[in-house]
Amino acid sequence: MSEEEPLTVAIVGAGPAGYYTAERLLASDRPVEIAMIDRLPTPYGLIRFGVAPDHQSIKAVYRRYEKTAMRPEVSFFGNVEVGRDVTLDELLTLFDAVVISCGAGADRPFAVPGARLRGVIGSAAFVGWYNCHPDYCDLDVDLDIEAAAVIGHGNVAVDVVRILAKTPDELAKSDINPEAAARIARAPLTDLYMIGRRGPHEAKFTPKELGELGGLARAVPLVDPAQLPPEDADAALDPGRRKVMEILRRYAENRPDEKPVRIHILFYARPVAVLGDGRVAGLRLERTRVEADGRAVGTGEMFDVSCGLVVPCIGYRSTPIAGLPYDPRRGCFENDNGRIRERIYAAGWARRGPTGTIGTNKPDGAEIAERLLSEVAPAGRAGRAGLRRLLAARNRPIVRFRDWKKIERVEEERGGSIRPRVKIARREELLAVAGAHPPTEEDDARGALRTSAAE
Ligand code: NAP
Repeated sequence: MSEEEPLTVAIVGAGPAGYYTAERLLASDRPVEIAMIDRLPTPYGLIRFGVAPDHQSIKAVYRRYEKTAMRPEVSFFGNVEVGRDVTLDELLTLFDAVVISCGAGADRPFAVPGARLRGVIGSAAFVGWYNCHPDYCDLDVDLDIEAAAVIGHGNVAVDVVRILAKTPDELAKSDINPEAAARIARAPLTDLYMIGRRGPHEAKFTPKELGELGGLARAVPLVDPAQLPPEDADAALDPGRRKVMEILRRYAENRPDEKPVRIHILFYARPVAVLGDGRVAGLRLERTRVEADGRAVGTGEMFDVSCGLVVPCIGYRSTPIAGLPYDPRRGCFENDNGRIRERIYAAGWARRGPTGTIGTNKPDGAEIAERLLSEVAPAGRAGRAGLRRLLAARNRPIVRFRDWKKIERVEEERGGSIRPRVKIARREELLAVAGAHPPTEEDDARGALRTSAAE
């Protein structure tokens, strides 16, 4: 083999972990070619479908990924699902290495009686709904309700509560699903409950996100002072946690009549049943105490909260891929420091489970790229051209990066002068706007899979 032969890598999942891995692979002095594969017609994964629609400054990181995506060594294969359109074994035949960076798009199970009632909607689906995810954009979300219960004390719970609490004006510059925005605007909501099974010291939300709840136009966050530990106990906390406590202590001084919507931040309560006949009418909770080892244990004391919607925000998990070992406890692929098995790696949430911010994926992707470069040698595999031929033979319409740019242009035009974009949600419309079609010979001749800004 010539020394110039490129290492061919298939990255499955075009989100932050995938792009950070690609970025580091390209920074090596070895020639590398990358197929960035995503089951959705659009790139950027969590940035598009997870980050809250009113957090545009966080979403701006996509510009960095775009620089990687536009490199001639990188080709986007959107609308291509591993397991449906191409198998893992086929990818291993076509590429020297495969990186699984498909994130954690499914909800951790919420296993209490009543969890299947209409009006119980896991965070993956609920966030996907207001973020125009093709799988969830047509979800049946009835917001003709006065109260909603959001379960969990992580940043996803805070996002969900904040989006439900915001006014149309506060969402005007977001890229929220217009249908979701209209339903939230019409909803007669007065009470939002954010429920944690442990105490204030154990809550997982971060100060910036928690702090945003204090600046909302129509909603006031409330904390029962009796649930806060003595102030001197905060001294042992790290600075971030101490900041969280300062904010919670401020919220404990708020009055419920200050604004029309109340955000009740409840601690020491674990859900034991969703109540209702056919649809959600309430949530039964058991009071807890936190043991020395940090676990919440039930005290046997029950209380109910009336609500018409329950959104468990209790963490995510990766969707298993046939042929790959999976750790159901952590909700990710079994791996040894990112290596699943020979020539297969995992990056991001698929590797670590669903924790950490977007930035956490940068060192993670870099580490996987370095490891892969040190362990895998090019072996004359067909790479992107081979994948293109296989998908053409299967008549599978794909979205190339320049096709995605058509979607992006239309969305930005629809956003007008106020919104950053109005997203296209339905898969069929995305594919139509992109002009998705099976790869052609012409693609090959023009090197169209090797996207460039000029195309
Ligand atoms: P998370 O931070 O792990 O929080 C999950 C919450 O659900 C915890 O409070 C957990 O309680 C609770 N929980 C888990 N199982 C439960 C059960 N069976 N019953 C009741 N409560 C349960 O997860 P996340 O909120 O999904 O966030 C995922 C990651 O994305 C986090 O790292 C988060 O910081 C990040 N994120 C960041 C941002 C941002 O930076 N703006 C926004 C969104 C998400 P225990 O602690 O008791 O387990």
